[in-house]
Amino acid sequence: MRDVQAALRTATDIAFDQEPPTGEQAEVLVDALRRALASARSLSDGPGATGCREHPRGAVDPLHGDPDDPLPPGWGRCLLCNDRRRRATRGRRP
Ligand SMILES: [Zn+2]
Repeated sequence: MRDVQAALRTATDIAFDQEPPTGEQAEVLVDALRRALASARSLSDGPGATGCREHPRGAVDPLHGDPDDPLPPGWGRCLLCNDRRRRATRGRRP
């Protein structure tokens, strides 16, 4: 929710300024509104699908639940965490 508020505050500052926004400010305005929309959308999507406390809104690992190439036991659905695990595994066994 804080992301939405911060983005909306930026947009409001520019939109309610005395002077009409310059080209650069207008770009910041568009960017802020876009950020607000993206943040608001992630809010309406509900709790993250990854079930990860660190990356609740991250991507879900496409290999999760794959019967042909199952993930090692203990791995979650979070793609970011699984990528990190993959890198660590590869580093240990070159
Ligand atoms: Zn994660």
